[in-house]
Amino acid sequence: MQNPRLTVIGTGYLGATHAVCMAALGFEVLGVEIDERKVASLTSGEVPFFEPGLPELLVKALESGRLRFTTSYEEAAEFGDVHFVCVGTPQQAGSDAADMTYVDAAFSTLAKHLTRKTLVVGKSTVPVGTAARLTALVKELAPAGDEVELAWNPEFLREGFAVDDTMHPDRLVFGVQSEWAEQQLRAAFAPVIGGGTPVKVTDLQTAELVKVAANSFLATKISYINAMAEVCEATGADVHDLAEALAYDDRIGGKFLKPGLGFGGGCLPKDIRAFTHRAGELGVGQAVAFLREVDGINRRRRARTVDLVRELAGGDLNGVRVAALGASFKPNSDDIRDAPALDVATTLQKAGAVVHVFDPAAMDNARKAYPQLSYGESAIDVARDADVVVLLTEWAEFRELDPAAMGEIVNQKRIVDGRHALDPVSWRAAGWEYRALGRP
Ligand code: NAD
Repeated sequence: MQNPRLTVIGTGYLGATHAVCMAALGFEVLGVEIDERKVASLTSGEVPFFEPGLPELLVKALESGRLRFTTSYEEAAEFGDVHFVCVGTPQQAGSDAADMTYVDAAFSTLAKHLTRKTLVVGKSTVPVGTAARLTALVKELAPAGDEVELAWNPEFLREGFAVDDTMHPDRLVFGVQSEWAEQQLRAAFAPVIGGGTPVKVTDLQTAELVKVAANSFLATKISYINAMAEVCEATGADVHDLAEALAYDDRIGGKFLKPGLGFGGGCLPKDIRAFTHRAGELGVGQAVAFLREVDGINRRRRARTVDLVRELAGGDLNGVRVAALGASFKPNSDDIRDAPALDVATTLQKAGAVVHVFDPAAMDNARKAYPQLSYGESAIDVARDADVVVLLTEWAEFRELDPAAMGEIVNQKRIVDGRHALDPVSWRAAGWEYRALGRP
């Protein structure tokens, strides 16, 4: 089969990565985006967010002539054999449900221009049942009618490892309604499949569910160890040692079993909430009721981190100078959506602390979203004269901080390690009062 021509609709964290990687794998790709600034930026070779390895690949893909970007759905419909929809599905304001406005708009706008046999593939994370609903909508709106097919191919990439996760994913999941759709997807992913990636072919609703089930499992694992941290705090036990001891059991495994400030970002929190909401609509809310507790444990870690800073400061945060290390929801990303770091920083500020934030990549995003916080140029810069240092995102450069050098510039040698990223022995040896969640 000839290589299908691909479009990628919505070029944010997921879509831009998908478009660039598919072009790098040899496909002709057209990125479609409503935000003209993103089209201009990507067209000029600038990735509008932080993702290691992506800028170099974007430049190469543009030079190869295989990758272009547009705002025109008409052009997209004409160009593409397979369309990947990668628009956002954020949490609705005032509800746990997913906001489907962008997905609905993307599918219906595209459908109106589809005049020949094509496959439209959803990659966004959606409530189960969405693909069936959109199938009816697309067939009704498309001039090509029943010739247009819909499939779901959920995405599992991790920000910070997005290129490698796209080129060499753990698995590909194809939710399809026909043999033809499966063949189209196999052709669109031929180089990835050729690299040894297993493919799970299934129906639409299972494909949709795989994604939310996976994220629910990962969130549960994190909250599980953080629940153990709460118990440790009440007993004087050490959750760090507990987690390491559990991880030796390969039925349990050490990944996502790291205690600390918990999860955030544009996926896990909103995905488990949307799943809980959708399960309720389907009359099986009880089956995933535990996810509310998973969310609750996760939120409590943020509050407990603020408490630790308050305790170290002597019980009152008023006027206390806090150096906040980290703003992004995780290292190697500039994504600040539902970032635990910024949640903690703003709560500390509301309690009267004077908070100075530094992050290696997310400063622009943080400044825009939280102009009320003050920002510094480096970890050293924000730590100068601090009464308490709090590590909120485990960037490598924070792990490598020298406790002796840091000790020279702070006002008080007190540190809260919100990510279990530092070695307590060496920090204490350098005279620091060291506190971490779930550790004595
Ligand atoms: P994002 O907000 O970074 O990107 C979405 C993009 O879609 C934006 O650039 C936006 O301008 C564009 N857009 C919105 N409406 C559009 C329309 N009608 N036509 C064309 N473009 C439109 O979001 P993201 O993080 O890339 O996530 C996208 C989806 O992928 C979500 O459902 C998310 O849950 C899922 N997902 C994300 C990741 C991740 O690591 N970010 C991983 C797996 C799955």
